[in-house]
Amino acid sequence: MHNFDVVIIGAGAAGLFCAGIAGQRGLAVLVLDHSEKVAEKIRISGGGRCNFTNRDCTAANFLSDNPNFCRSALTRFTARDFTALLQRHGVAYHEKHKGQLFCDRSAEDIIKVLMSECETGQVTRWQPCSVKSIHFDSENPSAHACRYKIECDRGTVQARAVVIATGGLSIPKIGASDFGYRVARQFNLRVIEPRPALVPLTFDSDSWAPFAQLAGLSLPVRIECGERKHKISFMEDLLFTHRGLSGPAVLQISSYWTAGKPIRINLAPDLDLPQTLAQAKLHSRKLIANELATLLPSRLVDTWIEQDRKTGQLWQRPVNEASDRALTALAERLSRWEITPTTTEGFNKAEVTAGGVDTRDLSSQTMESVQAGLYFIGEVVDVTGWLGGHNFQWAWSSAFACAQGLASNLQPAERPA
Ligand SMILES: Cc1cc2nc3c(=O)[nH]c(=O)nc-3n(C[C@H](O)[C@H](O)[C@H](O)COP(=O)(O)OP(=O)(O)OC[C@H]3O[C@@H](n4cnc5c(N)ncnc54)[C@H](O)[C@@H]3O)c2cc1C
Repeated sequence: MHNFDVVIIGAGAAGLFCAGIAGQRGLAVLVLDHSEKVAEKIRISGGGRCNFTNRDCTAANFLSDNPNFCRSALTRFTARDFTALLQRHGVAYHEKHKGQLFCDRSAEDIIKVLMSECETGQVTRWQPCSVKSIHFDSENPSAHACRYKIECDRGTVQARAVVIATGGLSIPKIGASDFGYRVARQFNLRVIEPRPALVPLTFDSDSWAPFAQLAGLSLPVRIECGERKHKISFMEDLLFTHRGLSGPAVLQISSYWTAGKPIRINLAPDLDLPQTLAQAKLHSRKLIANELATLLPSRLVDTWIEQDRKTGQLWQRPVNEASDRALTALAERLSRWEITPTTTEGFNKAEVTAGGVDTRDLSSQTMESVQAGLYFIGEVVDVTGWLGGHNFQWAWSSAFACAQGLASNLQPAERPA
């Protein structure tokens, strides 16, 4: 039988960060993970350079059934706090786009920082190690007793607190599992149905056939979905794929998209297209197609025209001969292209999982659940960040809040031999 103050399940971003801090506050910490390698998602993130935070991260960059829940943790451990930690470890980084911070060298630098912090905190780590069951001794009234019994590959572990940091369902082939949601349900906590987020959108092959030839084309767009006060929009790059749409614009909107509802795309967001074509009509004799090709990528224009030809619209004529109505209709369709995705590329391609452990059952101060001594941090919680470093910032901030909560709720016990 092994005894620890805290057992953290999941050696990813949130689990390792929490372990290091809790260990440094004097708690005896064990981290378990069923994968052989630590923090595989950090390793593959940001094209190998890890977009580890966003300089401008606030609660407005997150989705949750309870949008204010993340506020406290985010303000108590900010992007600036994380960059200060990297500076102490001599990790070089740079800003790429819209506040997104990346490692200059490699994502491995972030993993090294986390491992070094764990070493300082004398954290014990067992990998690979699977958990078979978690049992809580509800008969024991003492909050200081080892009331949790964890059966795992290496025997039985007793702990005073358990932290679930097993992430979401995205990318099962590198270790994602539904473990966290199962533990939540075992202890009667609510779970908001998990769904893929930051994920490419797909269309049925017939409706996508005209656009499939555009695969690889990327352009800046404004994209939006929702109605009235639920409307949300992003200005980012769109990428056409063989099966549908991807790129930052679509990944962002996918987190808000509801199945069966349309998305709207302005393909020329920096122009007033109706006005621009009306002006062109006054002084240009170019074919409409050629006029459009000065404003949009010509491959897109060709495809658009080809598609419209099938419905009887002919754009292979001079712009000055087109009717005002026809030009306005063309401009409006291009600046408000409304399409309804069939589905998403699913958890195999989703960067994150939206939904998760319902924050109504968690403390925003400590991440402890209504089940005493059981904590949830990182992506397993119903807090989902936008693209651009916000998801890692949530991992750091929720882990920090949890470690502080553990340190104040548990008096450090004697270290195990
Ligand atoms: C391809 C990709 C790129 C990304 N790039 C970025 C980026 O650049 N910036 C950003 O902010 N976010 C990015 N993300 C999202 C980010 O990686 C996650 O939000 C973040 O890793 C969540 O941290 P976590 O600690 O909660 O979970 P994870 O990092 O997923 O860690 C969970 C750990 O739990 C372990 N585990 C799971 N089930 C069990 C079990 N049953 N028993 C034991 N252990 C278990 C897993 O093996 C894993 O080690 C990216 C995600 C992907 C998939």
